[in-house]
Amino acid sequence: MLTAREVHRHFEGMRAVDGVSIDVLPGRITGLIGPNGAGKSTFLAVLAGTLPASSGNIVFEAEVITALPAYKRARRGLVRTFQLPSEFAQLTVLENLLVAAPGNRGESLLGALLGKRYWLPDERRLVERARRLLNRFGMSAKESDYAGTLSGGQKRIVEIMRALMLRPRVLLLDEPMAGVHPSIVDEIATYLESLRDEGLTILMVEHELHMVERLCDPVIVMAQGKIIGQGPMTMLRRQREIVDAYLVG
Ligand code: ADP
Ligand code: MG
Repeated sequence: MLTAREVHRHFEGMRAVDGVSIDVLPGRITGLIGPNGAGKSTFLAVLAGTLPASSGNIVFEAEVITALPAYKRARRGLVRTFQLPSEFAQLTVLENLLVAAPGNRGESLLGALLGKRYWLPDERRLVERARRLLNRFGMSAKESDYAGTLSGGQKRIVEIMRALMLRPRVLLLDEPMAGVHPSIVDEIATYLESLRDEGLTILMVEHELHMVERLCDPVIVMAQGKIIGQGPMTMLRRQREIVDAYLVG
């Protein structure tokens, strides 16, 4: 579904991603773990096209996409979220979803700032789709709240809904549970499981290992820009060098 071959991303000689090859399997949640600075976010950015690769190849649904810009990858169904919430604080929750929709004039930041009057001519089905997502993710009551007033967990859910507005086939999630109150972590996990059960393919960076164990199979372990192991979490837990690399960082 999504394949990386010998992907490198260097920052002035620093090998943040140092020859990573992976295969993301359809219909699964693949986990990507590793200590801080391992290169996980950089690798996700290279897969999504928000950062160009220094070298290597990325193939999505049998097409080489290494040189495609992020928005074209998103159009084909490869969509990412960010490690830090990237919602528009001054827009309502519903507006945040509409801004994310494809082919919407609100897609650009300018469109977002110009505001609602630019959305009026847009098709009503986008609003309907947004409202279906809000309903599904328990956020209907928040539709008209400014996104900036939401809790950390609610912002994460908005982030995921924004990505889903693009009808992804593969979703790249960077720490979707970071900064989330424990009571909402379980809720987000349940949403991710239901998305997977509907056939969505997910690659997810996460550092809460019990969540990784619950959601992700297989799990890929990165350290210092390289893959140091992969397989089911239960198997990785038994591998001394992986536990060491992970815990020592
Ligand atoms: P992780 O997500 O696994 O914590 P990152 O991908 O964020 O790791 O970072 C990997 C390494 O690349 C780190 O050493 C980080 O400092 C470096 N790095 C990340 N982004 C940049 C950048 N834009 N410029 C320079 N160095 C960067
Ligand atoms: Mg990161």
